[in-house]
Amino acid sequence: MTLDMTCIFCRIIAGEIPSRKVFESDHVLAFLDIGPLSEGHLLIIPKVHVSQLVDLPDADAAELGRVVPRLGRALLSVTGSDGLNLLVNNGASAGQEVMHCHWHLIPRVSGDDLGYRWLAGNYPEGRIDELAEAYRSALAPS
Ligand code: 5GP
Ligand code: ZN
Repeated sequence: MTLDMTCIFCRIIAGEIPSRKVFESDHVLAFLDIGPLSEGHLLIIPKVHVSQLVDLPDADAAELGRVVPRLGRALLSVTGSDGLNLLVNNGASAGQEVMHCHWHLIPRVSGDDLGYRWLAGNYPEGRIDELAEAYRSALAPS
């Protein structure tokens, strides 16, 4: 397991920094966020130092994804919330502060004030097709 002991989350994995762990498997750790957006806010991290979501190996991504529904069910029952947001900040421009990939699981209740701006736009003629083609090319097996 590759950890970076200058990384706060690697130090949590190693037990050097205390945390409220709620779930642990060979490849994944989940613990309570110390600065919660709402009560019960969880962080899910790979137990290998990977800076960003886009750097995550498939196997670790699969393991993180596999435990989300289970953690989500626990979150709903423990917090009594009726919804949750799964959120990843990837990169400083997206608000990532801790450079060890992590997924936020944030309890939501109807009428809370946690909303974010969702300013939906629209495409000029043809642009959506250009983008779809660019994505298909980028994702085509090489
Ligand atoms: P980011 O902005 O990088 O997506 O989120 C980092 C999160 O890590 C923040 O929500 C912050 O509260 C949480 N965090 C930072 N340091 C610690 C820590 O030492 N312990 C715990 N439990 N959470 C932390
Ligand atoms: Zn790390």
